[in-house]
Amino acid sequence: MGADFAHLHVHTEYSLLDGFSRTKKLVQQAKAQGMQHLAITDHGAMYGAIEFYKACKAGGINPIIGIEAYLTEDMHDHSRRFSDDYHHLLLLAKNNTGYYNLLKLTTIANTEGWHLRPRIDKKVLEKYSEGLFVTSSCLSGEIPKKLLKEQIDEAYKMANWYRDVFGPEHFYLEIQEHHGIFEDNQPSPQGQLNQLLYRMHKELDIPMVVTNDLHYVDAHDAASHDVLLCVQTGKQLSTPKRMKFDSSEYYLKSPEEMARLFPDLPDAIINSVRIAEQCSVNPLAYKAQLPNYTIPPEYSSQKDYLHALCVGGVKERFGEMTEKIEKQLNYEIDMIAEKGFVPYFLIEWDFVNYARSHGIRCSARGSAAGSLMAYTLGITNVNPLRYQLPFERFFNTERADMPDIDMDFPDDRREEVIEYVAHKYGEDCVAQMVTFNTMAAKASVKDVARVMGEQEIGDRITRLIPTGPNVTLQKSLDGVKELNDLYKGNGVAQEIIDQALKLEGAVRTTGVHAAGVIVANEALEHFVPLQLRDPKDPRKGRITQYEQAHLEEWLAESYGVIVYQDQVLFIGVNLAGFSWGKVNKFRKALSKKKMDEVEGYKGDFIEGCVKNGVKQDIAEQLFTLILPFGGYGFNKAHAASYAVVAFYTAYLKANYTAEFMAATMTTEASDAKKIANAIAECRRMDVEVLGPDVNKSDRSFTVEGGGVRGRSLQVTGRFLHARRSQVRG
Ligand SMILES: [Zn+2]
Ligand SMILES: [Zn+2]
Repeated sequence: MGADFAHLHVHTEYSLLDGFSRTKKLVQQAKAQGMQHLAITDHGAMYGAIEFYKACKAGGINPIIGIEAYLTEDMHDHSRRFSDDYHHLLLLAKNNTGYYNLLKLTTIANTEGWHLRPRIDKKVLEKYSEGLFVTSSCLSGEIPKKLLKEQIDEAYKMANWYRDVFGPEHFYLEIQEHHGIFEDNQPSPQGQLNQLLYRMHKELDIPMVVTNDLHYVDAHDAASHDVLLCVQTGKQLSTPKRMKFDSSEYYLKSPEEMARLFPDLPDAIINSVRIAEQCSVNPLAYKAQLPNYTIPPEYSSQKDYLHALCVGGVKERFGEMTEKIEKQLNYEIDMIAEKGFVPYFLIEWDFVNYARSHGIRCSARGSAAGSLMAYTLGITNVNPLRYQLPFERFFNTERADMPDIDMDFPDDRREEVIEYVAHKYGEDCVAQMVTFNTMAAKASVKDVARVMGEQEIGDRITRLIPTGPNVTLQKSLDGVKELNDLYKGNGVAQEIIDQALKLEGAVRTTGVHAAGVIVANEALEHFVPLQLRDPKDPRKGRITQYEQAHLEEWLAESYGVIVYQDQVLFIGVNLAGFSWGKVNKFRKALSKKKMDEVEGYKGDFIEGCVKNGVKQDIAEQLFTLILPFGGYGFNKAHAASYAVVAFYTAYLKANYTAEFMAATMTTEASDAKKIANAIAECRRMDVEVLGPDVNKSDRSFTVEGGGVRGRSLQVTGRFLHARRSQVRG
């Protein structure tokens, strides 16, 4: 035993549809095999870096952050129709300087260098080479390609370039062995390449390092990875000459397996650990600041300005200031100011004010409705004093993180608000957030069936999978008898479902987060990798490659069980004498059903209650009563915010029925099922639904003589629009 090895060349599922390793499994397995270090080197992007970093830290593994970049001659050359003139290049961050250089390189590759894929060139690589390890990379690296073409001099020149630029202690020749056999039964040239690299190592005195180009965790995941490749390339498993890996050895091999691959190169094996031991990064070390909000010169401080805005809002909301309002307002403003979040509220107020003054409806949801300040600033529409909503549920002095206000904007005008914010704080300082689309139950079945050329059975299976949120394939198998019967009685169906079960939940594509916008007081590329929102149109702005954790605390499942979490909070504070910070932690433990943690509060809770004059047995009873509430209790502030919106819409539906239904149908136009429901609802309410009419229809559903007129089909719609604008013109 005693074999020691670190995997430095690792593709995760964020190598989109080329990697099949899920971070959690990867880290667990590495740990189980006794490894202390692990790298992430996805193709051209850093989507998985933060998740990977956190998982490694939690699993007691040293996380090494890197990328396998695409290197091209001139990244500004976008002229080629096919981009096959690129090489793979493995880069690893040695320290935080290296990490920030990786961010820069990734951002540049995904913006300036983007041409069918994210590319960098040597010019930019030289500029951002500090703090990075670099290797000669896999068979697709530029040095390996030259060596195999017997252009030895050029290969040596390249090697010298890397050594000069990155420093001799940071450049390694990468040795791999996957025992690949090509489709025509030819062995992979890897063995031949290793010989050439070994010679280079001797002649130029460049150290070697062994890696395994891993794309999945277990050896038996190779089949799933192959299916994934077919999904990506739009091919079937049976397609001849499709892109395919040359062996099934691209998995997380144990240190012993790695050592066995190269019994004569113990130094190149142990170099993996030597490199890993030098790598130490913390991507979470840097905290960006909120943008500075410029206030009118007549105010002496941001706090004064915020106060003045609130006082102005009081007039609008309440008519006049009362002692109660003033007291609560000052209490909130002082607390916010103490924590340094005055700019946060000024920024929030500013874009809400912009939206309102441009006729864009908006409303905050969630616990922000507990803030009187937010109400007077127009951020929320619920008076917290009237509904007794606690401010401390939203914000309290023991809370370290930023307040969390979720704003709703109408889909068709959200863009205007984002543009306003980008313009105000600088395009460089604002980006939308990336989101990762994962394979859902039905989609994974569809993909697998298509790849296997068994669409018909695939359709039969997907029809049996229920629709709706939280549907998983396993739950469907357990819950739908017909599906289970099909699975048991049909070999092909079973094969499809087994494979789909493995693919389900894997990251498939990236998208733009509908609501997440990041704003900072400096260029975002300083601390987060960015990419173009639409590679075909660089003007359309940029998105991050990191998905920010979003605090969605609300339990959508609390159908009808109206027990507010806030009641638990009030009991904790008023009876048990908990602080707001403590009671919020207690509530969180409850709602996450962390019962060990919850039990930990029991002693304090009962003791506190007794101190406040509650009898011991009653206090114990109270504690056991709270337990089941926590898991299902609803946030009252959230309920109140939605109740107000529900009231508005109910009023409109009751008093302007046809208009309401026409607007609803226009919004849901792309969803045939919802339109069918809406038509049924119109019938129920005696609102006539008229079919589309070339002469009368518009591009949206319209009101006509008390009924709803169907919108014109898209083609005629465009035609009509053109004709009408001609008439007008
Ligand atoms: Zn590669
Ligand atoms: Zn690779």
